[in-house]
Amino acid sequence: MSYVDEVLELVKKKNASEPEFIQAVTEVLNSLRPVVEANEELYRKNAILERITEPDRQFMFRVPWVDDKGQVQVNRGFRVQFNNAIGPYKGGLRLHPSVNLGIIKFLGFEQIFKNSLTSLPIGGGKGGSDFDPKGKSDREIMAFCQSFMTELSKYIGADVDVPAGDIGTGAREIGFMFGQYKRIRGTFEGVLTGKGLTYGGSLARTEATGYGLLYLTLELMKCHGESMEGKTVVVSGAGNVAIYATQKAQQMGAKVVTCSDSTGWIYDPEGIDVDLLREVKEVKRARLTEYAAARPSAEYHAISADNRSGAGVWQIKCDIALPCATQNELLLDDAKQLVANGCKCVCEGANMPTTIDATEYLQANGVWFVGGKAANAGGVATSALEMSQNSERLSWSFEEVDAKLQGIMVNIYHNIDDAARRYGMEGNYVAGANIAGFEKVVNAMLAQGVC
Ligand code: NDP
Repeated sequence: MSYVDEVLELVKKKNASEPEFIQAVTEVLNSLRPVVEANEELYRKNAILERITEPDRQFMFRVPWVDDKGQVQVNRGFRVQFNNAIGPYKGGLRLHPSVNLGIIKFLGFEQIFKNSLTSLPIGGGKGGSDFDPKGKSDREIMAFCQSFMTELSKYIGADVDVPAGDIGTGAREIGFMFGQYKRIRGTFEGVLTGKGLTYGGSLARTEATGYGLLYLTLELMKCHGESMEGKTVVVSGAGNVAIYATQKAQQMGAKVVTCSDSTGWIYDPEGIDVDLLREVKEVKRARLTEYAAARPSAEYHAISADNRSGAGVWQIKCDIALPCATQNELLLDDAKQLVANGCKCVCEGANMPTTIDATEYLQANGVWFVGGKAANAGGVATSALEMSQNSERLSWSFEEVDAKLQGIMVNIYHNIDDAARRYGMEGNYVAGANIAGFEKVVNAMLAQGVC
């Protein structure tokens, strides 16, 4: 049995109840086969694959808080510190009822390679809770965030582990958590990113993941002799990533015709009105039905029978598809529909939105496919730029951060393209991203000895 297969077996056995984690490890290790085969003796002797698939440590803790009726509620909190070979652990905090240890581990594992790809010194980690922020008052959100940080503060720090936002964790939640950290530890330090601009946040961080996705997509298109001008784009999601991806795609001359949330999706053939979408989702925190009510050109489709609310967006004819909602939202049948409709390019704004069989189908049918590790790395890259600004106690202008972000995303595209070519897999950007991210981390691990 090959070394990759041996470790895959081991990971499946040790983590049998964590399907998302197994899915992520399988995707990464399969695409690393040529690199592992070329260095098998060295990697085996140093147990590189066993070490990189086992988190440095993982914390699971009780988060008690009091709701507006005076009732005590209890959630479960998580932080997985996966690998700090190239820098302090870095990765977001997800607040969603679906969160469990397996999901946090899959996200933390992917984060190792994504962070490495940014070329910045950050390791991989992830955290969150099964707390559902939907429908909670600001006071309830604060009560939860303070309780969550009371425990989390024991394990993080500006040079140790620097969490950020993710699904359900936006500026409001980061603010409450930062306040509590400061209160407990008595230090004002860059322990979280995605902070407000008045207390150490970075300009362009809010836009970074969506904008970065489009900078990379544009570079990919250019390298294939195409542009964004006049292209029809379908986007899923209606959160932070989806909104700023839509805005930047439109600024580049494309027309984005869809968005979705956890209850339904919109088809707007005249192009999504981003200002309206922001008003509905960011300000009112409302459902997409409100977007449809205010926009005569928009069709609203309620959640589908198979319970996949955004699945309908993949039925719409497009040149480019950008999944920006959540994991496993683009399945094999969706991929078939995209190919049948002539879609040329899929770049992932979300983490692991495309299943492995759907990815393989897209690649086999000539679709340029860039996975989230590379395509959505702009968010964490700009978080690392926020850390740099905090360390030097300075704030850079929007233009300066945005220009750095553009440079990073263009660089990531060329790195993953080169890595794929070096191993004879030209055009396989999934393998290219995993290889480029992996090589840097493994070199650091080997240099640092057995730890
Ligand atoms: P948000 O919470 O801002 O938005 C998520 C969007 O996806 C919302 O519209 C939400 O609907 C929808 N959604 C969530 N779960 C489901 C579901 N099960 N089915 C259908 N729709 C769903 O999160 P972000 O935009 O920040 O994150 C989106 C993705 O991008 C995630 O995979 C995240 O890990 C990834 N990512 C985010 C980064 C960032 O900087 N924010 C960086 C890199 C990756 P509703 O409005 O109803 O809640």
